[in-house]
Amino acid sequence: MRDKGHTKYIFFTGGVVSSLGKGISAASIGRLLKARGYNVTIIKLDPYINVDPGTLSPFQHGEVYVTDDGAETDLDLGHYERFIHTTMTRRNNTTTGQIYYTVITRERRGDYLGKTVQVIPHITDEIKRRILQAGEGDGRYDVVLIEVGGTVGDIESQPFLEAIRQFTLEQGHQNVMNVHLTLVPYIRASGEIKTKPTQHSVMKLREIGLQPDMLLCRTEVPLPPEARDKIALFCSLLPEMVFEARDVSSIYEVPLLFEKEGVGDRVVTRLGLEPCEPDLSGWKNFVRKVKDPSGYVRIAICGKYTNLHDSYKSIIEAFVHSGVENDVRVELKWLDSEEVEAKGPAQFFGDVAGLLIPGGFGERGIEGKIAAIRHAREKGIPFFGICLGLQCAVIEFARHVCGLAEANSTEFNPSTPAPVIDLMETQVQVAQKGGTMRLGAYRCRLEPGTHTHEAYQTAEISERHRHRYEVNNDFLPVLKAQGLRIAGTNPDNNLVEVIELGDHPWFVGVQFHPELKSRVLHAHPLFREFVAAALAYKHHQQENDEKETFHEDH
Ligand code: GLN
Repeated sequence: MRDKGHTKYIFFTGGVVSSLGKGISAASIGRLLKARGYNVTIIKLDPYINVDPGTLSPFQHGEVYVTDDGAETDLDLGHYERFIHTTMTRRNNTTTGQIYYTVITRERRGDYLGKTVQVIPHITDEIKRRILQAGEGDGRYDVVLIEVGGTVGDIESQPFLEAIRQFTLEQGHQNVMNVHLTLVPYIRASGEIKTKPTQHSVMKLREIGLQPDMLLCRTEVPLPPEARDKIALFCSLLPEMVFEARDVSSIYEVPLLFEKEGVGDRVVTRLGLEPCEPDLSGWKNFVRKVKDPSGYVRIAICGKYTNLHDSYKSIIEAFVHSGVENDVRVELKWLDSEEVEAKGPAQFFGDVAGLLIPGGFGERGIEGKIAAIRHAREKGIPFFGICLGLQCAVIEFARHVCGLAEANSTEFNPSTPAPVIDLMETQVQVAQKGGTMRLGAYRCRLEPGTHTHEAYQTAEISERHRHRYEVNNDFLPVLKAQGLRIAGTNPDNNLVEVIELGDHPWFVGVQFHPELKSRVLHAHPLFREFVAAALAYKHHQQENDEKETFHEDH
């Protein structure tokens, strides 16, 4: 990695509407800098007052992304890791809640020596301190990219914008860059694109003293040169700093699109970094394979939030990465666990080659998941259970193979006579909700001769957790006697981390969340092998079908 003197900072704000893809834009520019050999990290500033998204419903917030150091963070951190391959920590996500928490704790301690504690300077100072601190991690970064959540003009993001204004002054204009992501809508009826919302959004930024250095304009149609010139003139930018950010079919195309337009070189020049050719060859290959695979395989995901795909963001992306390594597109078939419960599993599995049960909380839909797992186990359909998915698989096995008809998790039935899944002792006394689960990276020792060991090709792994309940070791003798294999165990506390079934083509359950560590060009080994097993199943089924047709015809 090169060392370029002063750390450089790039702020990303969004205007007009939310959900324009600020996280993907920041991650993409991060990738372009990384491809030029710079050491890069990305942080997210979230304006909400929750301390972290851990207590938020998936309906409100989508997936909670867990870091190695056990922080529950925004799902954009998942994109950052997948795009720039820098391991995120709790420093990479700051919320208004955390900032006030810190300032108020200091005030109670008497640190402010009788002063009135105010948004400016105390809150803004704490925001700036956290940005600087993020740049110091892991040896010191050349470039820190900072995504500001929300939309310019929101009351709650004002202190962040004010902090950026002060920060630019303190760090020097040459070391700080402001990128603004905006929407340029296309009005179909008149066949025109409209620049006014962008002008207004930049006006709002300038009101608070921030002048964007670069605009990324989300559009569904090409941005005509006249529109670019007009935006540049009204927003006080050179036209070459106004970029079109067209809708693309895969998020992984965005860095390539930006590079083609010259975004990477402009950022480098603006920040006084050394210009050079980026190495994007691996990335280009990856995108080619995402867009044009040799085949497909269909995998069912049975969960509770299946119409809310943001809740399973990392799983969806892990299937993109593992699809590439198997040269297939993984088509996901979303099954609502309550529907499976009501109608029975058989009718849903005719066209699928694998079943994944993701993580989740609460009793609703559990019986549907258990029925789906039973079907996959009995029919030899590859199965991958994640966290709650493993727990359901153990309950299913205990009920239908070990004869413990009432087996359950105490999460769903606190008085079950067969609590095969139970609270860990350390969890029993926990009353506070936020940040109190088993969170973050834990070691796991793998058993040789298992699918899991074969996938990882190593005896010890580290994976991320987010749960309260565990396999109850008291039931291991009876489960094992009937053929459940314990493929991975935590060497420090002896908890079960991975289960498998011996007499099944591929049946793996993990207590951790492997999807959080799958990256572009480094698909997670278990996802890779699960997709391979699903493909093998699909081919096997096709062969059988052909044989049947042959026999019918002769
Ligand atoms: N509800 C389960 C537990 O708390 C599983 C959690 C999960 O799937 N992340 O243990």
